Amino acid sequence: MSDEASGSKQRPDGRAADELRTVTFKNNIAPHATGSTLIEWGDTRVICCATIEEEVPRWMKAQGVEGGWITAEYSMLPYSTLDRKRRDSSKGKIDGRSQEIQRLIGRSMRAALDLVKIGPRTVWIDCDVLQADGGTRTASITGGYVALSLALAKLKADGLLTVDPIVSPVAAVSVGVVNDVPILDLPYVEDVAAEVDMNLVMNAEGEFIELQGTGEKDTFSDAELAAMLTHGRKGISELLELQKTAIAAG
Ligand code: UDP
Repeated sequence: MSDEASGSKQRPDGRAADELRTVTFKNNIAPHATGSTLIEWGDTRVICCATIEEEVPRWMKAQGVEGGWITAEYSMLPYSTLDRKRRDSSKGKIDGRSQEIQRLIGRSMRAALDLVKIGPRTVWIDCDVLQADGGTRTASITGGYVALSLALAKLKADGLLTVDPIVSPVAAVSVGVVNDVPILDLPYVEDVAAEVDMNLVMNAEGEFIELQGTGEKDTFSDAELAAMLTHGRKGISELLELQKTAIAAG
């Protein structure tokens, strides 16, 4: 594929249309969490922590639901954005975007596990954006899965978990159409210019957990959707490998 055809000439950071930004993980950055990692994804950086509570939500007890629960919280630190973002606590309410994102993270983490096998406990996945440059929700899911895996490994090492509850690893990535070119992994500068913006959450079986796709400025065709999905699958398979290496490093 020529540079022109691959869209790389049009990208501000010179990446090919189907190329991820550099993604790295720094594990155990929050020692009081059961599992933690700092995911650095280009200029987007998110602290992802998994903390275990040895109890289940009241509704599970009331309904006699077997097993445990995973839930997530997401927030952008005030200095993570170009203009200071007020903390939800100072506004007295959580903003709609954060709520939508933390529900997405929770659903994605629950899809990775057999909740019965984690036993009667709750896993909190806390994602705090240190620096935002597009793709903070996909970084939260991809890093959240690493933090979750590290926490489960700790439970096993401590003899608190004897079975493997993981059904399938989970990662997420953004795709979109910018200047009529389908591309993978949009930083902020491309996100604001995108005609189409989509987030993919997938597992290691190559199955979809969630698709959030919007024709922000234009409609999109079957062919464009297919090209975005092809880029997305490539990105997800690379992310799953990076996660595997990060989890093995402990
Ligand atoms: N953004 C921001 N302030 C906000 C929301 C978003 O600066 O209150 C920027 C940030 O760089 C973010 C990007 O806009 O990563 C895209 O935001 P979007 O809501 O699409 O979510 P994301 O791509 O981060 O999952």
